Amino acid sequence: MLFQPFQELLPEIAENETRSITILQNAPGLPPLGQYMFIELFCTELDCDCRNAMILIYHVEKRQTITRLRYCWETKSYYDRINLDFEGDVPGIFVDIGFSGPYSEYFANVLKEMCLDNEHSINDTDYSERLKKHYRLFRDKLKKKPLNVDKAAQLTIPHPYNPCTCASGKKFKFCCKPIFNHITEAMRAAEDGLHEEALEWISKAEKIVGNTAEVLCQKAIIYSFTDRERYAEYLQQCLEVNPQHPRAHYLLDNDFKNRPLE
Ligand SMILES: [Zn+2]
Ligand SMILES: [Zn+2]
Repeated sequence: MLFQPFQELLPEIAENETRSITILQNAPGLPPLGQYMFIELFCTELDCDCRNAMILIYHVEKRQTITRLRYCWETKSYYDRINLDFEGDVPGIFVDIGFSGPYSEYFANVLKEMCLDNEHSINDTDYSERLKKHYRLFRDKLKKKPLNVDKAAQLTIPHPYNPCTCASGKKFKFCCKPIFNHITEAMRAAEDGLHEEALEWISKAEKIVGNTAEVLCQKAIIYSFTDRERYAEYLQQCLEVNPQHPRAHYLLDNDFKNRPLE
C-alpha cells in the first residue's frame, strides 16, 4: 500500500477539516506544549479498497512527526476478505508498527476518544465519519485523476484557479505555476543524476518566485540524492516558511521510518 497525504489531493478540504489539538499545560505524561496536527494519509492503489486511515501526529512548533497511528473502521471479516492483516485489533485504532515512542499511546488514546468514544469525546464526535468521508473523497479523486504517487504528484498540473498544491493558500496561477516547468525539469535532471543541472533549474525558479516553501522543498529533494545534511536543512527551512507543506510532510514521514525517535 502506498499512502499519500489527503491534503495533496484535496487541499481546500484539508485546510478546513484537518484536526489538531493543543496541549496547553505541562503535566507528567502529557506531551510537550504546542499544537499537534492530525495529518491524514490514504491508500493510492487504484484497485484497492483497504478502508483505513494513516494519521501522522505532527508537532507544529517543533516541526516533528511524533508518531503514526492507524484507524481501521471495518470488521475483521472485511479485511480478511481482501487479504489484509493489520498489526492491531480491527475495527480499532493502534500505533503503526515501528512508530511506538514517547506519547504514541497518548495520541492513540486521544484518537480513540475522538473516533470511538462518543460519550467522552473531545468535542469532535464526527471525526470517525469525517475520516471515512475523506477516504471516499480521496479515492474518488484518485480514480478521476490516477496518480502514480511520487513522480505523478510532481507532474499533475492543477487548474490555474485551484489552490496551489504546495498549500500556500494562494491560487496555483499566482503561486507555483510560473515555476512548474522548472520544477519538472529539475526533478527529471535529479533523477538522471544530473545534480548541477537540477540545481540550475531550481535557482532559475528561485529568481522568479523567491525562496518559497516549494522551492526549498525541491532543493531538499535534489539534495536527498547527494547530501543528507543539506537535504535536512532545506526540509527544515521549507517547513519554517510553510509548516503545512504537504510534500515536506510526506518526506518527513518517509524519513521517519529510518530514524529512531529522539
Ligand atoms: Zn489500499
Ligand atoms: Zn505553490
